[in-house]
Amino acid sequence: MKRLVNDCFANTEDMISASEALLRLEEAVQPITETEFCSLMESENRILAEDIVATTTVPPKDNSAVDGYAFCHAEYAQAPHQPRINLGRSAAGHPFVGEVKSNGVVKILTGAVMPNGMDSVAMIEDVSLDGDLVILPSGLKAGANCRKAGEDISPGQRLLEKGTLLRPQEIGYLSSIGTVALPVRTRLRVGLFSTGDELVNPGDPQREGSIHDSNRFILGGILRSFGCEVTDLGILKDSPGEIETALQQAAMDHDVIITSGGVSMGDEDHVKTALSAAGNLHFWKIAIKPGRPLALGQIGESAFVGLPGNPVAALVCALIFVRPLIAKMSGLKTQSLLSFKVPAAFSFIKKPGRTEWLRGRYDPKADGSGTVEKFHTEGSGILTSTIWANGLIELGDDVAKIEEGDPVTFLPFSELMR
Ligand code: AMP
Ligand code: MG
Repeated sequence: MKRLVNDCFANTEDMISASEALLRLEEAVQPITETEFCSLMESENRILAEDIVATTTVPPKDNSAVDGYAFCHAEYAQAPHQPRINLGRSAAGHPFVGEVKSNGVVKILTGAVMPNGMDSVAMIEDVSLDGDLVILPSGLKAGANCRKAGEDISPGQRLLEKGTLLRPQEIGYLSSIGTVALPVRTRLRVGLFSTGDELVNPGDPQREGSIHDSNRFILGGILRSFGCEVTDLGILKDSPGEIETALQQAAMDHDVIITSGGVSMGDEDHVKTALSAAGNLHFWKIAIKPGRPLALGQIGESAFVGLPGNPVAALVCALIFVRPLIAKMSGLKTQSLLSFKVPAAFSFIKKPGRTEWLRGRYDPKADGSGTVEKFHTEGSGILTSTIWANGLIELGDDVAKIEEGDPVTFLPFSELMR
């Protein structure tokens, strides 16, 4: 298995910008997943491992786009209103088998194959009947209401590139050429820990000074939305020995290990000591808020990311920094992250020289426009803010002040969590 080989996160400089950090993360890692076959029905959210080139024609035959009467346009052009004989019927899956005679029409249903020699269809609602005879409306163009063979896909066409995320529409696209199973990247195996003596699992007895672990639930969900196979490795005590053993153990069968907490400079922040013993650790000082230095390292051939302990900071750093890291390591081709410039419904003073992410809520207006509001406080332990928000407001390094109505960058959660 191809995994990380050198000390890829080594980084000597003191403080870097968020965009510089993202560039370096992208360069630091390579796709490490392998290839496996997956049935089409189970391929949602997987990453295509090879280019797909069509070998068939879609649609395979000329067919009708509507319910109506098929006819030959050259004949029609000479005498549009002439009553015509109904020669029979072509339904989806049951083509017309009779002989096409001059001045005849064939009743045809949506998706049914066009009879030989006929190239256009009049919609049923536009046709009038005179006994058994059919009178077509005027003004129909050649090829009207007819879908041509190969108008969607023709043999030799490159349909999808390797590295494409398989969404329902890609899966439907592949089904149209008859794909049964396809090569996909194996899922990135991610081991997830929380750290902290104060943490207990929901349902376990509370102790003096304890709080419930939230980060494993938040981060587990985010990582699964990125298509990872997540192993929940539980809570680690603030003990360098325990952390070191657990990380070494986890490195044996995970591509990436993610922890939260224990990476700031407090007395009980032992992840640093543990990782220095178990592998390489680098603190990237990134000019961002929220988030302390992001801890990046390697244990054996696994990548390590130490996220901040505060749940909101952990969530933001996972969405902004872990997302592209996972994407690259998973073999995803490009990141199609949609962001929007939206007028601010708030004013804000910001320290220039760092990127900040505020929890934001986009409120659409009846006229189709909208504004984005920020949560009223900024504490990075306040999970209520993440429920209230529907995305993040990104304020770049150069921003010093936002006034109501100024355009700000809005990143919807629906874009960030997938
Ligand atoms: P730390 O980075 O370990 O100093 O943690 C910073 C803050 O985040 C502290 O208030 C911790 O109690 C809190 N915290 C750390 N990990 C978690 C977690 N998994 N769930 C909820 N809060 C946490
Ligand atoms: Mg802690």
